[in-house]
Amino acid sequence: MPRVLLLIPTTTYRTDAFVGAATRLGVDVTVASEQPNTLTRLNPAGLLTLDFKDPHDAAQRVVEFSTSYPIDAVVPVDSQVVVVGAAISAALGLRHNSIKSVTAAQDKHRMRQRFKQASVPSPQFTLCSLDEDRTALAHRVDFPCVVKPLLLAASQGVIRADDQRQFIRAVNRLEAILKREHGMPTTSKTSGNAGAQSKVRPSVSSKQFLVEQFVSGPEVALEGMLTRGELHVLALFDKPDPLNGPFFEETIYVTPSRLPAEIQDKIAKCAEQAAQALGLTEGPIHAELRLAKYGPSVIEVNARSIGGFCSRVLRFGTGMPLEELIICHALEEDFELPERQSRTTGVMMIPTASAGRLIEIRGLNEAKAVSGIEDVTISAHLGQRLVPLPEGSRYLGFIFAQAESPETVEGALRESHDRLEFVIEPSVDRKDDYASLSERSTEAV
Ligand code: ADP
Repeated sequence: MPRVLLLIPTTTYRTDAFVGAATRLGVDVTVASEQPNTLTRLNPAGLLTLDFKDPHDAAQRVVEFSTSYPIDAVVPVDSQVVVVGAAISAALGLRHNSIKSVTAAQDKHRMRQRFKQASVPSPQFTLCSLDEDRTALAHRVDFPCVVKPLLLAASQGVIRADDQRQFIRAVNRLEAILKREHGMPTTSKTSGNAGAQSKVRPSVSSKQFLVEQFVSGPEVALEGMLTRGELHVLALFDKPDPLNGPFFEETIYVTPSRLPAEIQDKIAKCAEQAAQALGLTEGPIHAELRLAKYGPSVIEVNARSIGGFCSRVLRFGTGMPLEELIICHALEEDFELPERQSRTTGVMMIPTASAGRLIEIRGLNEAKAVSGIEDVTISAHLGQRLVPLPEGSRYLGFIFAQAESPETVEGALRESHDRLEFVIEPSVDRKDDYASLSERSTEAV
């Protein structure tokens, strides 16, 4: 029986989907996580503890492990473990994306550079530093623009600015987010807290950010699979809610896309070109593109599958879930990818409307009762501190729909969402909201 190594960070939502998929496929599974598991001694082939932050060490440990339990495929379940996954596959001599390519896909600046070198249509950009004079910078920027961090995900810290005043405010806000995310004190540069700051050496990325031209036009998300650099489109999702900022919350995804076939082809070609520009060759990708007047423009390409619980809306062939398809593809290079079932489906990521403590959820049964709604899953828990974008990055939950047309799917999702009420006790102190930020990872979809 082939053995698959699933890299599962403790904070992911994808555990059940991937472990369930491996179990159904009947392959041997080893689950690697960063937290030691007390059951490891009882199940030495099934459980492994790895330091995901140290790809070299993790790779060495897996090489040792594989002398007792040979590994046939490595599957990182989300973006946090994509780099370590590439390092492990390289050490084991398995088919994999190069470490360089997955690292570039995680750094928004490197990604933009690669796209520019390869003439992939994507927004113009400038790398800036928090140390630069913001007023001078604001004079040089073309508006509208988007200010964004290099390494965060799930739209955290991504802010649109239409003029110089908004730009300076956006950069100040991003600076505060970066300080919190990098574990630095939240005092401003001018207030001087040199003692505290000197304890934490900020990395380059914690000081740098991107300023991009704002690309207007509808946005789509493409779910695809790469084999030897060639893209197979698994699904193209329309995002019917306009994403005009100032913050960019994901809400509704509907597939199949309502766009004309010819535009869908252009989108696929553009996504493939973008993946190739990054040097990605194998495994799932999740790409976001805008349809500008001049054609598709790539916002980003990630070397991972769709996040959160969103994959539930996808079924392939005779009913295969996305995670089974990913595992089969990792195990077998020439695995014939089944087509997506022709169901019209959609998912809504429930946005966090305001900051505070979640004290009650009303209307759940009513939301589930809407015609076309398959399920409503609330991922936030009562008592949780909620932080909306751009500081926060988590959704309250997910609504799933299936109906006869994209319009009805979209309508069902909106109606279901309207029936839900989240009772949020407002925070007295905004700083309090941010205290919870360091306790969790982002939830990129
Ligand atoms: P993240 O990796 O955090 O999701 P992205 O760079 O993908 O960050 O940006 C998140 C969202 O912000 C995008 O899906 C898009 O809606 C919007 N966005 C980002 N950059 C641009 C841009 N240059 N023009 C228009 N919209 C953008």
